[in-house]
Amino acid sequence: MVVMKFGGTSVANSARIHQLIDIVRNHSNEEPVVVVVSALSGITNLLEEACQKAANKNEAYHSTLDTIIRRHEECIGSFPFSPAISSELIAQIREPLNRLGIICRGLSLVGDLTLKTKAHIMSFGELLSSRIINAAMKSSGLDVIFIDSREMIVTDNHFMSARVDFEETNWRIKQHVDLNARIHIAPGYIARSDSGESTTLGRGGSDYTAAIFAGALDASRLEIWTDVNGMLSADPKLVRDTITIPTMSYEEAMELSYFGAKVIYPPTIQPAMAKQIPIVIKNSFEPDHDGTTISNKPDKDSHFVKGLTCIQDIALVTLTGSGMIGVPGIAQRLFHALSEAEINILFITQSSSEHTICFVINRQDDEKARRVMETAYEFEIKLRKIEPIHIEYDLALVAVVGDSMRERSGIAGKLFSLLGENGINIRAIAQGSTERNISFVVNQHNATKTLNVLHEGFFLSKYKTVHLYLLGTGNVGATLIKQIAIGQKAFKEGGSLDLKVCGIANSKLTCLDPLGIDLDHWESCLANQGKSLSLMDLKNEIKQFNLRNSILVDVTASEEVSKIYNDLLASSVHVVTANKIAASSSYEDYRQLKELSAQHNVRFLNETNVGAGLPIIKTIRDLVLTGDRIHRIQAVLSGSLNYIFDRIGSDGVSFSTAVTEARERGYTEPNPALDLSGKDVMRKILILSRETGLRLEMDDIRNKSFLPDGTLDSNSWEELLGNLKNLDDRFEKERIALAAENKRWRYMATLDDGHVATGLEEIDSTHPAYHLKGTDNIILMWTDRYEHRPMVIAGAGAGPEVTASGVLADVISISNV
Ligand code: ADP
Ligand code: ASP
Ligand code: MG
Repeated sequence: MVVMKFGGTSVANSARIHQLIDIVRNHSNEEPVVVVVSALSGITNLLEEACQKAANKNEAYHSTLDTIIRRHEECIGSFPFSPAISSELIAQIREPLNRLGIICRGLSLVGDLTLKTKAHIMSFGELLSSRIINAAMKSSGLDVIFIDSREMIVTDNHFMSARVDFEETNWRIKQHVDLNARIHIAPGYIARSDSGESTTLGRGGSDYTAAIFAGALDASRLEIWTDVNGMLSADPKLVRDTITIPTMSYEEAMELSYFGAKVIYPPTIQPAMAKQIPIVIKNSFEPDHDGTTISNKPDKDSHFVKGLTCIQDIALVTLTGSGMIGVPGIAQRLFHALSEAEINILFITQSSSEHTICFVINRQDDEKARRVMETAYEFEIKLRKIEPIHIEYDLALVAVVGDSMRERSGIAGKLFSLLGENGINIRAIAQGSTERNISFVVNQHNATKTLNVLHEGFFLSKYKTVHLYLLGTGNVGATLIKQIAIGQKAFKEGGSLDLKVCGIANSKLTCLDPLGIDLDHWESCLANQGKSLSLMDLKNEIKQFNLRNSILVDVTASEEVSKIYNDLLASSVHVVTANKIAASSSYEDYRQLKELSAQHNVRFLNETNVGAGLPIIKTIRDLVLTGDRIHRIQAVLSGSLNYIFDRIGSDGVSFSTAVTEARERGYTEPNPALDLSGKDVMRKILILSRETGLRLEMDDIRNKSFLPDGTLDSNSWEELLGNLKNLDDRFEKERIALAAENKRWRYMATLDDGHVATGLEEIDSTHPAYHLKGTDNIILMWTDRYEHRPMVIAGAGAGPEVTASGVLADVISISNV
């Protein structure tokens, strides 16, 4: 004998019922089958809605009832029933539907809904569905016997979640079920109290009905047919890329279902476990998939964590007070009061100081819990030995479950560090001595993020997903997007890294998609779906998405953008920036950035602030980190200025032409005045000096301008170009004189014993910077370890390709941590 339960989505309409019939027909050829069915999907919710509305005297209950009737009529109408079956069925369902209407009318007059009436109304869903499916089976030629669960399952009168009298129930089931018949069908969820009133087994209770039948009949197997491929590693509605857990123990299944894995109703496990009946969870949409087998002999597989679950909308209650320490009976009174009030405790912790007990209950029990606790501790509260009861909301209870967790150390450690890296704070935590379950409370806002972070960490998901928000679509930004688009596939295959760009913004428009923007069409996405968001709104959206492993990538030159870093770092979003403004602003701001990233366990990376893709900042950090001291730096740090002076000096191009070329090739800042004034180089040497450990400000730098005053005072590029052209002759003269001395111009930045200076210098052929070409940068560093011959880093120091690849390298270095 096998008991097969089909849930709401597996009986949603005639197509699904045909599938059910195929599955049952195949099985019934091998062994007898008892089929237990749920209401058509969504009907139980509609019934609840109808009776609530009626009791609230809301006339809209009529339209809810109409929907219920229409759903059933449509379902019946789509079967080619014979007249005989059809008239029998219509007679069977007309009566309950009429009765439903009458009860709701009565409710709307009285305006009061008792649990007894509610249970009665809620039972109609299964009554109707089981009759329709019975008729459909008969019509398909199956020899099926209808049995009414209400005549067999006897309960107490906790109407909406009744407790079963197993002795009486088992006896009755054995009486009713003909062991020689091939197929029986019974409604799930519904039962009767010993005084004959309708009761239900609680929401999701059809699973339990099936388990009760399986236990009473000593079935060889209990099959739960649903809409997913078995027990998954997490709720597929909250986590993508979940996997089916092929086998698990009853205890694991119990923990997972109790803590929120809705796929199986928690009480279902017990009757099956008591008789060692395997429970198989199968997908009626994919019947050939093996699904999950729950038994006392699960296979040893590689997953020591079997699943993650989450119960949302809970209340965390704290009982605290100095009068609790060492006083026996305090906890006993608490649990007694809660159990008298029938309040279910989901989770409990008490610190060893005994000063505080905190526990989690369902949100809807909060006021009841407060009332009974205030009564139980009335005396102590009055004497201030116990504080007023404290209840917190907007929380979720997350559980990590697996039998084999007890054989492993470091699981809790890994869990905490995964959460810590993503800025998720744990509000309360409990682990039982079976070590099968670690459960903890987090803010509701972090629930989905928590599940995804842990799923990635514990189920060794194929890829680590990293979410990028990219600000700036100029030369560097567009190149970076191109590089990411090309690399995306290779990162996945080679580096197990799934780089998703979830936001792209320029100064006008922002396009956001938490699932990732298709980078082949980012421009049209921005143009067609882009919204005009303020930076504040964008920052809030990023915080609202609250995606794990998030990185803000700033490839703008905007001061406003640099102002959102702090808040994002504090929200556990990493920052990678090519924008120099933040790191070269006041020392106090710079220090705060560093401090925030340390505090929140996130990175602030700005390698491309100096030398584009050249490894300058990381080299200095490594030297300092390993105990070296940097005494002196001499460097050419402006790719654009070097290009300009190289074109003038080596190729005889005029000053204004050289600047125009540099601008057109994307070597200059968006405003070339920033390069020509030396400000850009000042920022760079300031950033490097700070990395060496100096507390410097921009004002501490001596900059010797090579331009006459007022040259750079312009409102447009055209105006600036006019000013530059006026200097062409002067530069030409100086160039000829310099060439005669065999010298070259280099715009140098120096750090010497704590003093920083920048300016145009004339160097001869003995200087290592003499042979620099184009946009090359060079940096020479004299340190304790590189005392006599400096460390030299040289290469292309500007250009979209090298800058974008430097930014991407920073992104990847964060992703690989
Ligand atoms: P049925 O109507 O068949 O009884 P339910 O809706 O009660 O189906 O349960 C199946 C649903 O449970 C799935 O569609 C899925 O969204 C949800 N679910 C939550 N957690 C899990 C999990 N760990 N594994 C599988 N399904 C889960
Ligand atoms: N129809 C009931 C519910 O939706 C019982 C079940 O489907 O298991 O809760
Ligand atoms: Mg269910």
